Amino acid sequence: MTGDTMTNDSSAAQAKHGGCLCGAVRFTVSGPLRPVIACHCGQCRRVLSNFAAYSAARRGDLAIEGAAALAWFESSPGVRRGFCGRCGSALFWDCDGNDFVSVSAGALDQPTGLRTRRHIFVADKADFYEIGDGLECLPQGQSDPWPQDDAAADGAGGPPAGGR
Ligand SMILES: [Zn+2]
Ligand SMILES: [Zn+2]
Repeated sequence: MTGDTMTNDSSAAQAKHGGCLCGAVRFTVSGPLRPVIACHCGQCRRVLSNFAAYSAARRGDLAIEGAAALAWFESSPGVRRGFCGRCGSALFWDCDGNDFVSVSAGALDQPTGLRTRRHIFVADKADFYEIGDGLECLPQGQSDPWPQDDAAADGAGGPPAGGR
């Protein structure tokens, strides 16, 4: 192997790819990805067995291939969770009115180059694990201003970033 494509360290500026376990759904993010928010709410726990690790992409930067295999479940009014209808992989969390779509960080091809920013809904976390990474923990959700500039402009608190 020459490895000439493996030494590229400018990946932040490149499209990111991801997909489900069976490969029926693939997606490409052509813009920035938000740092990961770990959601410990009861909904994410049931869907993912543990907490959810979601990045996010601007709606217009997200291109989905194999959308016919993608299924959606409305988990709260105005909030839908996208998953592969074939293998069940959780892929997206999409809230009406957001100009971004949350993307399952675990569905992204490695390396993602992402870091976790904080934990939310920790009041609802399961009792079989502890959070020990020293990051900020919020008892409930918080609508994260992202992309920073756009969201700061419209002010009003949006829907929670996770669950419920
Ligand atoms: Zn699949
Ligand atoms: Zn959640």
